[in-house]
Amino acid sequence: MVMETKNQFGERIESAGGIILNLEYWDCECEKNFIHRINEKKCLDCNVRQENQPNSRESEIEMLIRVRD
Ligand SMILES: [Zn+2]
Repeated sequence: MVMETKNQFGERIESAGGIILNLEYWDCECEKNFIHRINEKKCLDCNVRQENQPNSRESEIEMLIRVRD
């Protein structure tokens, strides 16, 4: 069962099987800095496109993005 809701930042998140995905971000294939905001259509490092990639996990965004903001 997939449930869509919003986090405290007003971003759309989706919970499926105990994993929370954030629909405003996606993962590329890079080993580092693999989280992109949804308005980036492509990773210039590994050349994957957003439409072929999964959304990012909320927990990883928390660790990798928000600690830098
Ligand atoms: Zn990449």
